[in-house]
Amino acid sequence: MRMDKDQRWWSFEWNFIARVRKQMNLPQNVIIKDDTLREGEETPGTYFTIDQKVEIAKILEEMGTPEIEVGYAAGIKEHAETFKVLKKEGIKMKLSSHARLYAEDVIKEVDDIIAAEADIINFLLVPDPVLKSKNDIFNRITEGIEYAKSQSAYVAFGSGRVAPHYWDKFCNLALDAGVDRIVVYDGNGCALPTAFRDQVAFTKNIVKETPIEVHCHNDLGLAVANTLAGVEGGAEIVDVVFNGLGDRAGNAATEEVIMGLEILYEIDLNLKLEKIMEISQIIEKYSKTKLQPHKAIVGKNCYIHESDLHVEQILTGNWVTWELIQPYVIGQTRKLIFGATTLQSRAIKAKLSKMGLNPTDKEIETLRTEIKTLIKTKEFISEEEFEKLAKKIVKTD
Ligand SMILES: [Zn+2]
Repeated sequence: MRMDKDQRWWSFEWNFIARVRKQMNLPQNVIIKDDTLREGEETPGTYFTIDQKVEIAKILEEMGTPEIEVGYAAGIKEHAETFKVLKKEGIKMKLSSHARLYAEDVIKEVDDIIAAEADIINFLLVPDPVLKSKNDIFNRITEGIEYAKSQSAYVAFGSGRVAPHYWDKFCNLALDAGVDRIVVYDGNGCALPTAFRDQVAFTKNIVKETPIEVHCHNDLGLAVANTLAGVEGGAEIVDVVFNGLGDRAGNAATEEVIMGLEILYEIDLNLKLEKIMEISQIIEKYSKTKLQPHKAIVGKNCYIHESDLHVEQILTGNWVTWELIQPYVIGQTRKLIFGATTLQSRAIKAKLSKMGLNPTDKEIETLRTEIKTLIKTKEFISEEEFEKLAKKIVKTD
């Protein structure tokens, strides 16, 4: 077991052995780019008002997030307005706009994004009828990036689904045109972590000092794994969405990638991690997309313990036996409950001892019978309900 120096969490020791670490080309720092406002809003049925976007942006900034993607400043009027409002509200994070490199008029696309005061023009190239031939595509990469650079913009460029033998050509064209950042996409969630790490490492070899951003979808449940594999390949920026929102099966969840980077790689992101729970809940409310109870990091079941041995170990201070992260780290609280799996007495005895009570065997049996009866009509009894019941049954003399 490898314990965090502040005892906030622990990690699998094998993660840190030399043979494993040798396979990674970890960057010095990783930038969290939160994409909840843009990609999160693409979750079916989700719409954030500008006021909600401001509230979300402010709390992301309080956490210390360095960058967010706000929307399509060129394609959607309300998004352009959002950029201006965020600036007016004093948001200091870098604000990125998605940009369609495949747009009919790429010059207008750039002008509109600059007019909206975005800090980053994030060009995406997708297969589109506008760009029919390979030459059209190659010319567009040069034209779009060169024009944006001539307007002094910070420019990112990326594309998914590029055949491996074309990818270096894409990167070199973008570099020659002056691109500031390359984005590697797994836009359909179909990359193997090993392959995605290879693509990022291959890209790093071409682009050298130019930073790489990764953007991964979750169609096979691998978005977080692929994002972390991208960091292992040398990516310095991770594009992530709170609660894993996004198109279809969603994107790499911000909270999972943050905790993965901190715990599995010991990369200090310099974030106020205790904000994670609050942000997740605000986004759950505004996105109208309920979290599954066992969602990693922020699901309500993550810090609830019910089974006998688990409750006993938590009560006796051995959190590491059944938890990975101390709940306070992400602004969560631990909850103990008494239900069908808590009736083997170890948890009951540990709780009574913590309460300073010294029960007889008969009293423990009575308590167990009472709990059994109660959970016939409700799922479980809370710690407070247990305390009340125990005080009634166990004599203190
Ligand atoms: Zn996406």
